[in-house]
This record gives sequence, C-alpha cells and structure tokens, in this order.
Amino acid sequence: MFLPITPTNGRPRTRPLASMRSVKRRTKIIATIGPSCADESTMKAMVEAGMDVARLNLSHGVLEEHIERLGHLRRIADAVGRPVGVMADLPGPKVRLGSFQEPINLHINDEILLQPGDTAAEFSQAGRFIVGYESLLTDIYKGDRLAIGDGSIVLEVIDHAGDALQAKVLFGGAVQGRPGFHIPSDRLKLTTPTTEDLRLLDAMVEADIDMVALSFVRSAHDVRRIGLEPAPRGPLVVAKIETRAAVENLDGIIAEAGAVMVARGDLGTECSIQDLPHLQKSIIARCIALGRPAITATQMLESMISAPQPTRAEASDVANAVFDGTSAVMLSAETAIGRDPAHVVATMASIAHKADQEFDYERWGHQIRRDHLSERQAGDLAVTDTMTLATWQASQQIEPTAICCISRSGFTVRAIARFRPEAPILGFSPEDRTVRQLTMSWGAMPIKIDRIDDNLTTVHNVLELAKAQGHIRSGDIVAVLGGSTGSVAATDTLRMVRCP
Ligand code: PEP
Repeated sequence: MFLPITPTNGRPRTRPLASMRSVKRRTKIIATIGPSCADESTMKAMVEAGMDVARLNLSHGVLEEHIERLGHLRRIADAVGRPVGVMADLPGPKVRLGSFQEPINLHINDEILLQPGDTAAEFSQAGRFIVGYESLLTDIYKGDRLAIGDGSIVLEVIDHAGDALQAKVLFGGAVQGRPGFHIPSDRLKLTTPTTEDLRLLDAMVEADIDMVALSFVRSAHDVRRIGLEPAPRGPLVVAKIETRAAVENLDGIIAEAGAVMVARGDLGTECSIQDLPHLQKSIIARCIALGRPAITATQMLESMISAPQPTRAEASDVANAVFDGTSAVMLSAETAIGRDPAHVVATMASIAHKADQEFDYERWGHQIRRDHLSERQAGDLAVTDTMTLATWQASQQIEPTAICCISRSGFTVRAIARFRPEAPILGFSPEDRTVRQLTMSWGAMPIKIDRIDDNLTTVHNVLELAKAQGHIRSGDIVAVLGGSTGSVAATDTLRMVRCP
C-alpha cells in the first residue's frame, strides 16, 4: 500500500535551511469583532489577511448582534474555503462605573467619592462616581488600590465617608463612557461564571460556538462550574488568567480547561507591571507543556487603533510572545474599534510569520521533552503523551514532510503541537467543531475528513487528501499518528510512510 522507506531516510540533518524555513505561519491570530469590522466584507478581508479565530467580546454589544456575526463568519469561512474558529468571551464579574455624560480629567491627589449604585440608571459626576458593586463599602478597605478603564488610572481608598468611600487619585487621566472598574480579585466577592455569563453561554452554545473564554477565573472549580460537555461535544473552554489567584492555581486551571489566555489587561492591574513579562513566560510554558494552547492578549498592536504602523516596541512584543511559545496572539480594540482591522491583522500576521521562521524549534522540543518526562500522565492520556513524544523523536531523525494526526477531539494534535515540530501538522478530524477548534492550535492545519475507519484505510485516505490539497507529494515521507481502530479513543499507532 505504501512505498518502502529506504535507509537513506534516516539521513543526518541535511535538509537545507531554506526549505525548513519556508513554512507557513504557525502562530495563530485571534481578532476581536466590533463596530469597525461588523460588516461581512471587512470580516472577509480579515480572514484573507490571516485571522484564524474571531473573538466575540460579550462585554460589549447585544447578544443578537453577536449571534448574527457568528452567522456572517460561518458564511465567510465557507466562501473562503478555510475553517475559521469563533470564540465567545464571557464578561465575568466585571464591575463598571456609571456613565460619564462628558469626559472628566483626573489629576494626582484629586479626591473622589465612590458610591455603590445602579450603573445602568445612575450617572457618574465629577467628584462622585457610581460603582456597580453592591458590597463596595464592606469589601473594600482603606489603602486598597482600585483602577479605572485599562488600568492606567489608579485610585487609593483613604477613608469611609457614610454611604461612599473616599479615594484619592494616584495616577490620573481622562475618564469617559461607562468604564470598567478594577477591584482586586481577592476583595471581590463575586464568582465566575455569573448568572448572566450562564445565560449568554446557553445562547452561544445553542448557536454552535466553537470556544468560550471565561473571565476572572480564580480556581479549577470556576472552570468546572461552567458545566459544559467536554470538547468537541461542547465548546473548548479558554480560562483567562487575569487574577492573582489564577496564577497561584495555574496547574489545576490548565488541567480543567481546554486552553488558557494570558489576559494582560486585567493581569497587569492585579500584579506589578514588572512581573507581567515573567508571568507571561511562565504561564505559556506551563500551558504548552500540558498540551493546551496558550493565547497572549491585550495591547499587542495598540497604537494601530489609530496609526497605520505599530511602534517598534509593539512589533517586538508580538515576536517575543512567539519566542515565549505562545500558540496564538490576540487583537482586541485594534480590530474592534480600530481604523483598519484587516491591515492590523496583516501586520500581525507578517510579524508572527517572521518570528516563526526564527524560532528555535529544536531547543524548544528538547525543553518540553525534559519537562514532559518529569510528569507522567495516567491511562489513555499516557498513551497519547508517549506516542506524540515518539513522533517528535522520530521526526528529529527522519524529518518527515508532514505530521498527519487523525484525531476525533483534537487532543492528539494539541499534544504533538507542544513539541513545536518543524514539519507542518495536518490535523484530520471527522468532527466539524474539532476542525474549527484546531484553528487556535499552534502549527495545525485543520482538515475535515468524512469518517475514521480502520487505521490502514484512514491512513490511505488522509494521505490522498493531503496530496490532493498540495500539502505532500508522492515519494514524501510522512508521519501518521492515529488510533489502531476507528473506535479506540487513545492514539496508539505511529506510521512512517512513503507517500504513494
Ligand atoms: C484582558 O484583560 O487582557 C482581557 C483580554 O480581557 P478583557 O478584554 O475582557 O478585559
């Protein structure tokens, strides 16, 4: 059925650098859909520019609008002939200030009263802000620091003053609209997911969403409370790491979640700013070692909200996130309210692609292997773990043209991706939702197949499909990883085949 593999296939690493470096972009791009890109033609331009996953931020806009955008994205993916994942980001227990009717400038040492109230009905005014948190007066203490908006405006509580807290401005700036109000998560009594999150989640699951991001997670228990069926029967759960407690409980959260997001906006408010780059590195490394995709988010190309080019620091930030091992990089306001969403996506795609080409794949694989071997999994997970390690090791010797993974849930694809093999990863699945969930996985090219038969038949079929789509050619050596029968859950078979 397959051509024989001759001893020359075990050749030393002679593949010219140029061919190893001509890989397609491996780091995935997530872009937030908002008013600047709500029309189908802009979303299509974003997909064509490299958007792999669209993020619907449910903190803004109305539910019906998000469901309509999901429909647009499905049609665009069909038209473009490429899967596009869609992630709904739940608001979580986000506290807001009552709206400001006009912008107010805050200066250092200005004093303000913070009064709990209904932010949908009451306005904030100069000197007295309405805070949408009922137990503000009992949960917040003198000396606590509270932040407004993206965290650049910081207040310190100096006293209790009857029905309000008295605070002074530590770092000033302009406040407008209905900004977010950051209360340190160890003071906040609200838990995630909120009742409102669960209402939104039901509607998004009904609409067949692919991934759901959970905000302000503090423990593995918060992730369990979302109560979804495991992926791919349910959406992949992305735990946003943006509280100090989440950093402390990271391993438990990763084990419970399908992926993790380094949500640098809120995390940068919860932790010291000098700790943030190091937290980013350690969260990503932990997450990838455990076979879950990691997303780096917030202010990646912030200046492009209004400028045609990123700053030098932003370009370095995107490239460094790739070097940290991130699976995906995310755009927020840059595309949601920015001047040219498709151009921002194209800019991010080109920076990430260049960084992918410079990435030290060999060093990364060895490092993961070292970390990976120190922690043994049990049962089926151990089989998949061992088989993906074996595939990476074999690929070091034989340098296959591609690694084909036959996977119902996508777990095997994510497990091999953690080693960052140089060969492209082709992820074959009969499940539509798995195919769309793999759009977030580093290096994976998701491909839909009709079904998983016995191993030999499926291997034959995926090779034919990969050939027809131009990923491999006759005579190429290809690694194929799958289950020995269509019904076995664990990945227990690796074949190194010469493509007929
Ligand atoms: C963040 O805090 O960085 C983040 C991505 O979350 P949100 O945009 O919901 O604040």
